[in-house]
Amino acid sequence: CGIVGYIGERKEVKSILFNGLSKLEYRGYDSAGISILKNGNIITKKAVGKLVNLEKEIINTDMKGFLGIGHTRWATHGKPSVENSHPHLSTNNDITLVHNGIIENYDILKAALIKKGHKFLSQTDTEVIVHLIEDAYEGDIFEAVKKILPLLDGAYAIGVFTKNEPNKLIAARKGSPLVIGVGKNENFIASDIPAILEHTKDAIFLNDGEIAILTKNSVEIFDLNGDKTEKNIKHIEWSL
Ligand code: GLU
Repeated sequence: CGIVGYIGERKEVKSILFNGLSKLEYRGYDSAGISILKNGNIITKKAVGKLVNLEKEIINTDMKGFLGIGHTRWATHGKPSVENSHPHLSTNNDITLVHNGIIENYDILKAALIKKGHKFLSQTDTEVIVHLIEDAYEGDIFEAVKKILPLLDGAYAIGVFTKNEPNKLIAARKGSPLVIGVGKNENFIASDIPAILEHTKDAIFLNDGEIAILTKNSVEIFDLNGDKTEKNIKHIEWSL
């Protein structure tokens, strides 16, 4: 039910994600998790229940890195459990993804992916998205995401990255909220402004059908046809 993501120069990505998730608590959740890229490997930690349970999981884990995604889940498909918590990973563990929303046609997509040899670990609708991306991946994570989004019926906001492209964080939305926080040598994604407000007040609101490529010092946004769109950065006037 809440997403945060970070790409930048600060190593404390773990606390940036965790603090961001705690600002999204008001949206409601039953479990939570984060994935961080550390020395070329994706480290993922998840916990059922309150964020304090996730905190216990991560507090003694070295998760220093420059790229990560986090999620608070409000289960729609599959009970609240560690396996069903996000982030979800591809079969080869190279790609990690968080999702808010519902994929209505996940069962058909899942059956086709299982036939192709994909291994599913959860009962969620979400897990099909990361496997579709894995299936479409030919070395460019943005191209893979762009290719598979039209296959999804329903609503989504997603954050995704692969260990093969450590300088990119991809975000997209249709029907679920997602905002991009523009910082200095760092950029953020979040379901809502409070999650990023302590880091930046400059935000870009993604429209339905848009996909974003974030690096630590750039944000590019494309429509579903793949055409680049120019978006205004909004300066948020609130304080916390
Ligand atoms: N439908 C997904 C799930 O049940 C995402 C739920 C959410 O938005 O938190 O895992």
